[in-house]
Amino acid sequence: MRIGFIGLGNMGAPMALNLLKAGHAVSVFDLSEQAVQALSDAGAKAAVSPKEAASDSECVITMLPAAAHVKSVLSGADGILAGIRKGTVIIDSSTIDPASVKACAALASQHGNTFIDAPVSGGTGGATAGTLTFMVGASDAAFDEVKPVLLAMGKNIVHCGDTGAGQIAKICNNLVLGVTMAGVAEAMSLGVALGVDPKVLGGIINTSTGRCWSSEKYNPFPGVIEDAPSSRDYTGGFGTDLMLKDLGLATEAAKLAKQPAFMGALAQQLYQAVSSRGDGKLDFSAVIRLYGQA
Ligand code: NAD
Repeated sequence: MRIGFIGLGNMGAPMALNLLKAGHAVSVFDLSEQAVQALSDAGAKAAVSPKEAASDSECVITMLPAAAHVKSVLSGADGILAGIRKGTVIIDSSTIDPASVKACAALASQHGNTFIDAPVSGGTGGATAGTLTFMVGASDAAFDEVKPVLLAMGKNIVHCGDTGAGQIAKICNNLVLGVTMAGVAEAMSLGVALGVDPKVLGGIINTSTGRCWSSEKYNPFPGVIEDAPSSRDYTGGFGTDLMLKDLGLATEAAKLAKQPAFMGALAQQLYQAVSSRGDGKLDFSAVIRLYGQA
C-alpha cells in the first residue's frame, strides 16, 4: 500500500521502518529534518508537509506527542485533510484524550474521511521488534481495513470498540500501571527501611498476592531485577513525563465522566513530584526515589 506517516520520533521512526520492511511505499513527514532524512535513507519518500505525505496515500498514520499536535497536523493549512483523498482512513497511534479523538473524527468525517484511534503499548522495544499491541477504536468495517497495515508494526491488534475506545483502554491500563508501580515502590522502601533484604522481599511479593507486572518484571528497587531500568540508574524504559502525561489524560477523562479517580490523582502527584525534581526523563520506576531508600 501507499502509506503516509507523520511523526518520526522514538516510536514513529521504527514503526515506519517496519512498514517499509513489509513492502509498503511510505511517504514520511516530521518537523525534524534529520528524522525525515533517516527514513528516506531507508527507502521512504520525504514529504515537505503532512499535506504532501497524505496526498496519494491509501492510508495515513500519525504518531505525535499530544492532542494539540494531532489536531494541527490534521487540520492545519498544510495538514492531512488539505491533501488527502476522500475515503482514506487516518490512523492516530499517539496517546491522546478520548474527547480529542471524537473531535478529530468529526473533522475528518466532514471531509469524507475516517479517523480512528489506535494507541499502542510495548514501548520503543516493541516498536522496533514489530510486536506492539494496538488498541483500536473504530467501526467494524474500518477495523477490518486497517488491521493488515497494523500487523506490519504489531503482534496484537485488538478492537476495543467504537471511535475513542482504544484511547480509553490505553489510559485505563496506564492508570493501573502508575498506581501499582507507586505501590510496589512504597512497599519495597518500607521493607528495606525496616531491615529486610530487597531481593528477599521482591521474591516474597512475586510469590504472594502483591505480585504484579511492576513487582515481577520491573521492580523499582535497584538490583532486584537485573535487566530492569532500576538496575541501570533508571535509564531507558518508559519516561516519568510520559507516565505523568497518561495519568493526566486518565484524571481528565474521569473529570469529564464525573467518575472518581482517587488513586490516579494521587499517583499523578507522585510522578509530578519526580518530574519537578528534574527527573522527568528517568524511567517512571524512579518514583521510588521519593521514599528515600533507593
Ligand atoms: P517523540 O517525542 O519521540 O516523537 C514525536 C515526534 O513528533 C518527533 O519526532 C517530533 O518532531 C514530531 N512532531 C511534533 N510535532 C509535529 C508536527 N506538527 N508535525 C510533524 N511532526 C511533529 O515521542 P514518542 O516517544 O515517539 O511518542 C509518540 C506518541 O506515542 C506519544 O503520544 C506517546 O505518549 C506515545 N507512546 C510512547 C511510548 C514510548 O515508550 N515512547 C509508548 C507508548 C505510547
